[in-house]
Amino acid sequence: MVSARESVAELPLARFLARCHAEFATDHSGEVATYIPELARANPSDFGIAVTTVDGFVYEIGDSAVPFTIQSISKAFVFALALDLVGHDRVEAVVGVEPSGDPFNSIRLGADNRPFNAMVNAGAITCTGLLCESEGGGASARLTDALGRFAGRRLGVDEATFESERATGDRNRAIAYLLRTHGVLKGDVDTVLDVYFRQCAVSVTARDLSVMAATLANKGINPLTGEQVASSYAVARTLSVMTSSGMYDSAGRWVYRVGIPAKSGVAGGILASLPSQLGLGTYSPRIDDQGNSVRGLRACEALSSHFGLHMLNSGGDVRTCIAASYDVGSVCSRRSRRPQELAILEAHHAECIVLELAGALSFANVEYVSRRIRSLQPQLSYLVIDFRRVSSISEAAAHLLAGALDDLVARRVEVVFSGVAKGTPLEASLSGWLGGKHGVRVIAALDEAIEWAEDRIIQRQDGHLDFQKPTLLAEQQLLTGLSQDELSSLADLMATRNYAAGDRMIESGDPAASLLFVGSGLVSVRLPSGVRLATLSAGMAVGEMALLETHRSADVWADTQVTCLELSLKDFTGFRERHPRAGERVMANLARLLSKRLIVANNKIEALASY
Ligand code: GLN
Repeated sequence: MVSARESVAELPLARFLARCHAEFATDHSGEVATYIPELARANPSDFGIAVTTVDGFVYEIGDSAVPFTIQSISKAFVFALALDLVGHDRVEAVVGVEPSGDPFNSIRLGADNRPFNAMVNAGAITCTGLLCESEGGGASARLTDALGRFAGRRLGVDEATFESERATGDRNRAIAYLLRTHGVLKGDVDTVLDVYFRQCAVSVTARDLSVMAATLANKGINPLTGEQVASSYAVARTLSVMTSSGMYDSAGRWVYRVGIPAKSGVAGGILASLPSQLGLGTYSPRIDDQGNSVRGLRACEALSSHFGLHMLNSGGDVRTCIAASYDVGSVCSRRSRRPQELAILEAHHAECIVLELAGALSFANVEYVSRRIRSLQPQLSYLVIDFRRVSSISEAAAHLLAGALDDLVARRVEVVFSGVAKGTPLEASLSGWLGGKHGVRVIAALDEAIEWAEDRIIQRQDGHLDFQKPTLLAEQQLLTGLSQDELSSLADLMATRNYAAGDRMIESGDPAASLLFVGSGLVSVRLPSGVRLATLSAGMAVGEMALLETHRSADVWADTQVTCLELSLKDFTGFRERHPRAGERVMANLARLLSKRLIVANNKIEALASY
C-alpha cells in the first residue's frame, strides 16, 4: 500500500519542489548573516521549502521543520496588525508606501520625514511603536499571538537571538531616535525596540511561513484553522507594500521577474503569497548582499516562471461563473404536478429562469452575469439566482449585481436567492439583500425556490393548487383505464388512512407490503438524510414501488393533513388473479409513470451537464 507521505511525494507540485530543492541545494553562494551574533550559529546547509494551498494542503520538502527567527518577515504582519488595531488613518499618517531603493537598515527617511514604507526597519519600528501606544505592556504578547494565528499554531520567541540583537542593535537604536526626533515615534525608544527585537526573534519554520503566506493569499483567513486573522483591507494593503518593497532594494527586479508579493528576513526565510493561489515559505540561511536568502530567491523564481505565476499573468474565462442556466421547463422542481398544472407549466415555463452561479464572483464575472441577465427574454417573471457554489462575492461584483437587480425590479421580475448558507462570509456580503430587502426573496434550497416559482406561475394562470380537495379513485394516475366495476372491487380492498402534518407514513428499510393512493394533501418522499426526492399530491400513489421491490427505499412524510387509501400487496395480488386485464393495466400505468420520470430525470441531467 502507498503511504500518505509517499502519495504526497508523487503529486506533481511535490515532484517539482523536490527537483528545485535538489538543484538549489548545490548553490553555496551567499553568507549566513553575522551582524546579529546569534544568527551566525545557523547551519548554512539547511534548506527547506513548503507550500500551502488556499484550501489548506501543505507540501513540505527538506528542512521545512527547522526553526529559525522570522526577522523582517514579521514586518508585513505587524503592518497588517497595526492597520487593523490602530486604524489605517493613523498608520498611513506616519508610514509611507513608497519603495525606498535603500537597504533594509537604512537611516534615511523620506522628504516628509516619514519612513518610506513599513517593510524597511524605520517603517517597521514605527508600526511597532504604534502598537506599543495602543497595547501598552501587552504589545509584545499581542504581536506573538497574532503571528501564531497567521501560522495556525502558538509561536515562541528565540530568547538567545533576542538578547543577541538587543545587545548589538545600535543601528536600529539610531533609526528609532531619528524617528523620535521627527515625532513619528512616540514613547520610550528602548521599550519600543525591545518589542521590535522580540517580534524579529519569533521562531518559525518554512512550513509556518507557508501557512502565514497562505493566510495572506486567502484574504486573511487561515486555511488550516479557518480563523479570520486580519481584515481583507489590511491584507490587501500589506500585499501591496510587499509587492513594491518586500524585497528591499531589489524590489523592482523582483516584481518584474517573479511578480509574487514576498518578504524576506536576514535569518534566511522568505515568504511569498500569491492571492487566491498559494503561500510559499522557504528557509536557507545563506543570504546575498541585499539580505535575501539565495536559495529561497531561486525557489521563488523557479516556481513563478515554471508555472507562470506572475500576478499580472492571471486571467480566466469569466463565463465559468455561470455553472448552469435553464428555465423550469427543462429542470423542474421535485414537486410532482397534476395534469392541469403540468399543462400550465408546459405553456409558461419560460417565465422562470434559474442561474446557478459558481466560484469567487469578481468584477469581471458579474459584469458578464449582468449582460446575461439583461438579455433574458421579455416574458421573464421570476429569476432564481443560486449561490450554492459561490465561495465569495467581491464588493465590485456586489455593486454590479445590485445594478442588475434594480433593472429587474423595474421590469417587474421577482428575484429569488437560493443556496446562501447561514453564517458564511457570503451571507455577510449579501446581507444587504437578505431579509426581504429590495424585493429579493430568499429560499434556502434551490429545489424549493423553483417549486415556489412554479406555484406562482400556476396560480397566475388560475390553476388551483388546492391540494386538500379530495380526488376520486378514478382520477388516480396508476388506475387510469380501469372500468367502474374494476375500480369498485378494488375500492373494497382499500382502507382509509389519515395522517397529520409531520407524520411518517412509510419508513425506509421496512418491507414493502402495500401501496398508498393519495386522496388529498401533500406528501414528500425523502432520503433518510432529509433530501427531498419528490412531493406528491392527490391523484398520485406512494409506495407504488412495492409492485417491483421488496423493501422501502425512502421515507414518506405527510407535509399537510393527508388522506390516503391503502391497498395491501396481498390483496392486490388476489385482485390481479380475478381481474387479469385490470392488473395488467395497472402495471402498464406504472411502467409509463416510471418512464416519464426517467425522461424528466434525463432531461435534467442533460440541461445541467451541457454547461
Ligand atoms: N532584526 C533585524 C534588524 O532589524 C531584521 C532585519 C531583516 O530581517 N532584514 O536588523
